[in-house]
Amino acid sequence: MDFPQKADVVVIGGGVMGASTAYHLAARGQKNVLLLEKEEFFGQGATGRCAGGVRYQFATQVNVRLSLASLPMLERFEDEIGQAIDYRKCGYLFLLSDPNDLVAFQNNRIMQNRLGVATEWWSGDEIRRRLSMMRLEDVQGGTFNAQDGLVDPNSVVMGYISAGQRLGVKAFTGVEVTGIQVQSGMVKAVDTRDGKISTPLVVNAAGPWAGLVGKMAGVDIPITPVRRQMLTTTPLPEIPADFPFVIDFAQSLYFHREGEGLLTGMSNPYEKPGLDQSIDLDWELVHLAAATARLPLLENAGLASHWAGLYEVTPDAHPIFGKTPVEGFIVCAGFSGHGFMHGPVTGKIISEIILDGQSHSVDVSMLDLRRFEEGRLIQEYNVV
Ligand SMILES: Cc1cc2nc3c(=O)[nH]c(=O)nc-3n(C[C@H](O)[C@H](O)[C@H](O)COP(=O)(O)OP(=O)(O)OC[C@H]3O[C@@H](n4cnc5c(N)ncnc54)[C@H](O)[C@@H]3O)c2cc1C
Repeated sequence: MDFPQKADVVVIGGGVMGASTAYHLAARGQKNVLLLEKEEFFGQGATGRCAGGVRYQFATQVNVRLSLASLPMLERFEDEIGQAIDYRKCGYLFLLSDPNDLVAFQNNRIMQNRLGVATEWWSGDEIRRRLSMMRLEDVQGGTFNAQDGLVDPNSVVMGYISAGQRLGVKAFTGVEVTGIQVQSGMVKAVDTRDGKISTPLVVNAAGPWAGLVGKMAGVDIPITPVRRQMLTTTPLPEIPADFPFVIDFAQSLYFHREGEGLLTGMSNPYEKPGLDQSIDLDWELVHLAAATARLPLLENAGLASHWAGLYEVTPDAHPIFGKTPVEGFIVCAGFSGHGFMHGPVTGKIISEIILDGQSHSVDVSMLDLRRFEEGRLIQEYNVV
């Protein structure tokens, strides 16, 4: 494919947000959409390194509404986009041992139920009965939603890219955007090592790198990259087929079935912001000690693989959607470690903001960039 010198829309970043945005723009009839990814393959950023969890259980109405719109799109994905994505509804179970978390999650459950999400409250005894292979003496209760589950992230990215290409999207890997040309407050072009591309419209879907891409256009986007890591084990036949996605909320420690073994991760609360994606082996030992204390049979397992990726953290743990002070420069990033699941509806929302001036699918007007300078932050409590 010849390298283009002009585009009507340039989408920066070939993760789930960029892929979904490019597809949804093309599906609405937008011509000359160009998707640029700096790595050799699509989906190698946060999306390809994520745990693949999809859930309705959030603490704010807007996040629940994003899930209510996005998860059904994942259910229909194979029919609509033509790609199998291995949606497994194993349910998410939040284990709660801190009294403050108990109150917060009880309130969240009431809010979720009001919005039509069937999250259940389980007592500590009920949880111990169902997860007899775990050590849960201190767990006082928890929330469970059977509709939450797991999806394969790479299939979602490649599904959207292939479907977008069939509709005319030009998608390139190995092309890093190195600059954004702005004149009189308007986007004019993006610079790459392969040449300049003139365009009036740029979507910043650069995930953990979105703050850096913002700087190229002279826009301050408060997104901080923070390393998170996880590992998978060799087969553990003792883990039942219906083992849910279990999250020990107080420790930010989680487990779910992955193939014949388990995937487990734990967020390091002391991790310093930065773009380092190497594995912190000291933290892995802390994580494994905590994981084995909860699930002793992990002692029988070997390490199958481990990796690190980057959360894209905003000050209120909510994403940033829409316009910026530079005309034609749109942001779609900052999902703070739980964005994969909202990728489908996000692409639709960004296509609506570009083509219709506002989003109809979900009202995300409160998640604009200006909320930070205007002090309109909406804190999400349910961050793992
Ligand atoms: C360890 C871990 C576990 C997670 N678990 C979950 C989970 O269970 N469920 C969930 O919903 N979410 C989870 N997340 C969060 C989720 O991965 C992200 O919110 C989501 O993938 C963000 O997608 P994105 O497209 O914005 O970013 P990315 O997938 O990072 O895509 C951005 C892309 O932009 C490219 N790029 C950057 N700069 C440039 C440039 N200058 N030029 C060209 N390309 C550029 C990058 O290479 C990258 O591919 C997890 C994240 C991590 C790190």
